[in-house]
Amino acid sequence: MVIKSPHADVAIPNVDIWSLLFDRKNRTSADDKEIFIDGETGRSYNFAQLKTATIEFGKGLKSQWGFKKGDVLGVFSPNTIDYGAVVWGALWAGGASSTANPTYTVKELAFQLKDSRVKGVVTQLPMLPVVLEAAKQIGLPDDRILLLGDARDSTGKFKHFTELRDTSLFGQSKTKVDPQKDLAFLVYSSGTTGLPKGVMLKHSNIVANVIQSTSVEKRSGLHSLGGPDGKGDKQLAVLPFFHVYGLTNILHSTVWDEYQAIVLPKFELETACKLIQDHGITFAYVPPPIILGLAKHPVVDKYDLSSLKWLNSGAAPLTHELINGIWERLTIPVKQGYGLSEVSPVSHLQTVLEWARYKGAVGKLMPNMECRVVDLEGNDVADGQEGEIWLKGPNVFDGYLNRPELANDTFSADGFFKTGDIGYVDAKGNFYVTDRLKELIKYKGFQVPPAELEGVLLGHSDIVDVCVIPAFDNERSTEVPRAYVVLAAGVDRTEEKAKEIVKWTSTKVAPHKQLRGGVRFIDEIPKNASGKLLRRVLKEQAKQEDRAQ
Ligand code: AMP
Repeated sequence: MVIKSPHADVAIPNVDIWSLLFDRKNRTSADDKEIFIDGETGRSYNFAQLKTATIEFGKGLKSQWGFKKGDVLGVFSPNTIDYGAVVWGALWAGGASSTANPTYTVKELAFQLKDSRVKGVVTQLPMLPVVLEAAKQIGLPDDRILLLGDARDSTGKFKHFTELRDTSLFGQSKTKVDPQKDLAFLVYSSGTTGLPKGVMLKHSNIVANVIQSTSVEKRSGLHSLGGPDGKGDKQLAVLPFFHVYGLTNILHSTVWDEYQAIVLPKFELETACKLIQDHGITFAYVPPPIILGLAKHPVVDKYDLSSLKWLNSGAAPLTHELINGIWERLTIPVKQGYGLSEVSPVSHLQTVLEWARYKGAVGKLMPNMECRVVDLEGNDVADGQEGEIWLKGPNVFDGYLNRPELANDTFSADGFFKTGDIGYVDAKGNFYVTDRLKELIKYKGFQVPPAELEGVLLGHSDIVDVCVIPAFDNERSTEVPRAYVVLAAGVDRTEEKAKEIVKWTSTKVAPHKQLRGGVRFIDEIPKNASGKLLRRVLKEQAKQEDRAQ
């Protein structure tokens, strides 16, 4: 049975993202309201400055780089208030952005830049050495590398993105795009299996998800900056903008919903607490490890966090213990949302009225969406029974970049996207996510594709076979990758060897992909008759090992 959203459909305008955000007639806030504030320096953008910055950068891209419809800009940066100006500038010029994790190694970055065929990269000064090396590997000239953020290049070789701006009043106009067809963002996800792939998000996908999320979130007591008392809600923008959760739900929604975002480049608990206190921050979207810090760390007691109305957790599983922990310590509801890169990203969202009644649920299906919960044969299961969650709606992507062969595995014959997540729905339409059918591991909300780690590990001269699966680290409240390794004949299974493999791997991958779950030695990796890894067997083994400890 197809499950329909319990919410009434909402009207989703057929416009491109830039027009939705900057050409709107019904904005309630004045042009000079500060919308993005740098939590470290206090530098800010108001609405008017932001709009101008996007246009001037867009014009510069067109006039100086010949950037045009269909072109892609790479963005390799931690959160900064300049992020929006850059990606919306690229949209103004008719192109798209491929947003990458700024902790990537040269190899990881080069893969994404090459795969998405970028015409240039925007980065920050500390990441420049990685970008230069990656650019060299893919043949991208140095003059196609720009900087954003506060630090400038003292040699003057690498321009800041604002130096590319074109302030001419004539000669350039916004490039027309078709919101239903044209690409806006490429975010990378391993999907249900294998290596990272470019998730093609069109303008219409992001526009839909911003409008869908807003319609549900408005029930949770948020007010725009242009509200009657002149004060609106303020959020902590710590979720990374390169990840679709931060990209849509913070970067885009901040402008559309007219909230203020206090932007932090990376999460540091005490800084976050101080900013909440000093700015009177009222809400935050965060992954479970940040909820853990707020629930348990002693430093939290030094600050007055009473301005917070609620927290929303997403991107990874959240335990009841943490929801209760926050309530006991701060008397703040923790509601949940669920989604994935492929659905731009939110498909389920709780309202603040539901968090206690349906504790642990990820919420009801968003408006304009349909869902099926199916068994392994693709047959619908009864309400309350676990199955794979399948999704359909205007926010669901069309496919992975240059991977048309994956369409049959990705979508059902009746057009549903197969999430690879397992869950169930109760009689009231609340969804619970309970497990994962797909192989993906999530460390603190960041993707760790096991196939990628396995590829790296097979490059170790002592390893003949390997399988990487998720273990769970209770202390850090997150999944961690664990490798089951078959050693070459004659190599001793010692603790030192395990440690050496962990250390060796850490030099080859981004920090979030490190083997924090350790290395275990086994005789043989379980496989089925056709040689497919039986990850489930090792996942169960990991659970048992951890229980026995
Ligand atoms: P990403 O594409 O990086 O956003 O990762 C999406 C995946 O994160 C989903 O397929 C789920 O496996 C997991 N996920 C997201 N939100 C939740 C949640 N609220 N509870 C459990 N898992 C989640």
